[in-house]
Amino acid sequence: MPYQGPHDIDPAVRAFLKRDPALFIEGAWRASSDGEQFAVFDPATGKELAKAVEASEGDVDAAVQSAHQAFVDGRWRLLRPADREKVLLKLADLLENRAEAFAQLETLEQGKSIHIARMIEVGASVDWIRYAAGLATKLSGRTFDVSLPGGPSHWTAYTRREPVGVVGGIAPWNFPLMIALWKVLPALASGCSIVLKPSEVTPLTALWLAETALEAGVPAGVFNVVTGGGAVAGRALTSHRLVAKLSFTGSTATGKAIGHAAIDGMKHFTLELGGKNPALVLKDADVAKVIPGLMAGGFLNGGQVCAAASRVFVEAPLYDDLVAGLEQALLGLSVGSGLDPQAQVNPLVSADHQAKVQAYVADARAQGVELRGQIAVPDEGYFVSPALVLNPSEETKLTREEVFGPILNITKVADAEEGLARANDTRLGLAASLWTQDIGAAMDLTRRIEAGTVWVNSHVFIDPNMPFGGFKESGLGRDFGVNWLDGYTEEKSVCIAH
Ligand code: NAD
Repeated sequence: MPYQGPHDIDPAVRAFLKRDPALFIEGAWRASSDGEQFAVFDPATGKELAKAVEASEGDVDAAVQSAHQAFVDGRWRLLRPADREKVLLKLADLLENRAEAFAQLETLEQGKSIHIARMIEVGASVDWIRYAAGLATKLSGRTFDVSLPGGPSHWTAYTRREPVGVVGGIAPWNFPLMIALWKVLPALASGCSIVLKPSEVTPLTALWLAETALEAGVPAGVFNVVTGGGAVAGRALTSHRLVAKLSFTGSTATGKAIGHAAIDGMKHFTLELGGKNPALVLKDADVAKVIPGLMAGGFLNGGQVCAAASRVFVEAPLYDDLVAGLEQALLGLSVGSGLDPQAQVNPLVSADHQAKVQAYVADARAQGVELRGQIAVPDEGYFVSPALVLNPSEETKLTREEVFGPILNITKVADAEEGLARANDTRLGLAASLWTQDIGAAMDLTRRIEAGTVWVNSHVFIDPNMPFGGFKESGLGRDFGVNWLDGYTEEKSVCIAH
């Protein structure tokens, strides 16, 4: 039943929160080997929600050994692709049937609006699962004509796509369930096993997902979850000799460390990293559409979205109208817990992240930068008011660094060329948007903007069939799309003389 009020928590969520903290290894709950635990907090109250296991190196080894054994004996890898597809489709059905419980648990640990949890964290995840399930039956190779001695009729050459082995998946805290699935799905669809390490800030839904996957028919050991921080559990996973591929989503700084670890161990890797994403608003844009578009693009999930708009460059004639419209929209927002269906501004994920975002705002204020649109937020919980930051200088920290909060820079530019130059003046290149009704300008600028995804007249919409990933320091590799499994498979050439 959909959540109606603060006392209306789904009984399955209550029961899950009462369980003893454990890892999920070899299809079973496993207590910590050395008793280490950490607390998970409810961002709306700052109170402890649950405890989770701080996995030791030995725990991570047990999880990887389990995944490795499952891979070697072929309990998943050697199923017919149609059977892997069927199991993943069952997982989608189970998640869909339990959507409300998963959405509530996600809101409780992450803080996000229950609407976003239902629509994106769970709703979109179900679409992603079904999309990836279909890829399981689409793995294929190519045949080649070769110019070897004896002529073409004496040779047959082709490639096969084979699963790489054990995948180490490492996920961030902003969309814990959905991004966990972005690791799990290509691994499972291609026949790999996976050890997933969710963020230590939001470990709960990933654990529940693994149990649900077992119920759907993913064999024990194929999908294990270890919880804990980067320093021990994360490092143990990235350096484990039996992990063949690292799939990481998180900050650029951590991504670089993981890239180094991957090269040291000669592992495949995919890095989905941070963004400092521009939105370029041309003077012919329809402001009435840009305002809601940038409210979603900049403030969805409290701006804790890798692809969120964070730097708006607007041609001078539209500047005043855009600032006034966005300010009015922000001032009308209501604040509260993510579980409150009326609340539009919800807490950020953690006390640390709240302090980090507040420090960026304080730095801008200290430099005399004008802030608009701020509203009162409660002292209890990890709330930060949204804000517009008007024309910050290049020296202001929030101009150059990823804030990952509800803070939107708006800078007036003389023309599209200045806007484009400033939009591209960043070491990151994850996503960008252009707002214009001029098709010629849009076609020209979409080519020249340095970002992995460019939206025109929208921002932040992603789709399982649309490749996603970063230019520059926003990452390496692409997720999603029909070639998603390439990163989880080896391409083997077979050459037969006959
Ligand atoms: P983070 O880099 O701090 O942590 C991400 C994960 O890495 C966590 O699970 C953490 O425990 C682990 N980790 C940390 N140090 C590690 C180490 N040395 N070895 C192995 N694992 C380690 O990121 P975060 O704060 O959780 O998430 C926010 C960041 O994620 C933002 O920069 C955001 O832009 C990025 N992000 C990117 C995408 C994308 O698709 N490009 C999507 C969502 C979030």
